[in-house]
Amino acid sequence: MGEFDLIRRHFAQVARRLQPDQPVEMGIGDDAAVFNVPAGHQLVCCVDTLVAGRHFPLDTPAHAIGWKSVAVNLSDLAAMGARPHSILLALSLPSADDDWLCQFSQGLFECCQRYGVQLIGGDTTASPTLTITVTALGWIPSDQAILRQAAQVGDLICVTGEMGNAAYALQHPGSALQATLDYPHPQVSLGQQLRDYASSMIDISDGLGQDLGHILSASNVGAVIDLAKIPTHPLLQALPNPGKWHYQLNGGDDYQLCFTLSPDKFNTFMQRYAPPVSVIGEIVDGQDLILLDRDQSVPFNIQGWQHF
Ligand code: ADP
Ligand code: MG
Repeated sequence: MGEFDLIRRHFAQVARRLQPDQPVEMGIGDDAAVFNVPAGHQLVCCVDTLVAGRHFPLDTPAHAIGWKSVAVNLSDLAAMGARPHSILLALSLPSADDDWLCQFSQGLFECCQRYGVQLIGGDTTASPTLTITVTALGWIPSDQAILRQAAQVGDLICVTGEMGNAAYALQHPGSALQATLDYPHPQVSLGQQLRDYASSMIDISDGLGQDLGHILSASNVGAVIDLAKIPTHPLLQALPNPGKWHYQLNGGDDYQLCFTLSPDKFNTFMQRYAPPVSVIGEIVDGQDLILLDRDQSVPFNIQGWQHF
């Protein structure tokens, strides 16, 4: 199977068959894709690379790799408050394995469909290491992007979902939490709902501790977190500390949102949407991240994911 057959069979035909609700002028098949951004909106874009053996274990099913390569990018768009529109896929493959490509593209398209996103182009190359790079494109009403830099003293610190599940699954293959590692569900709707409410937001991909740290340094503020308020799955709840905290604060791959907002806005937001959101702490003066265990500050080494 040549490169063009591969693209047609596994990506172009399926992309054409699916009929997402957002139109494009030109998708796969020309030199570049063309689409319209609605008037009064800004384009929001991001890219994330998954390298086999680094970002996912080598035995991860192709279907899960396809899903996850889209999901991690939609999580970044969600963290800006953007509405996702489309993705581009750069695929570097050690071989053109038909079964693998079938599974991979199925997982990728399932995630696309789940979030109303379409594949509008890409690039396909051979390479010794399986590497998947997805670029995601979306938009947001002008000047409404939720940045990391505007957290205010007195704001509540909130997270969606549970923390540490994917990191636990990485250490316990085949556990009940395996799906949280393989099939993250980015908070795409909630991210957009937070536009009128959140003062700052980030998606948690490298560990809550490190990612909240990015909000603190960008906003030049500190935070107090009550460790007991971090939402926790029963499997992790059963673990002794600090092992549990290690998964929750330093573990990667949660793909949940962490955001700040004033107590007033929090109340109106919860009344309007009743979302799965937990308050875990508060923004304070200073620059430190203070972690409380039963009102006592605990020393803890924040060490999120780092490549180098
Ligand atoms: P070029 O040589 O101009 O880079 P390609 O042969 O790489 O063109 O791609 C031809 C068309 O197929 C383009 O529209 C491109 O976006 C699309 N394409 C290539 N690889 C993929 C892929 N893995 N997934 C989706 N579309 C792809
Ligand atoms: Mg190309």
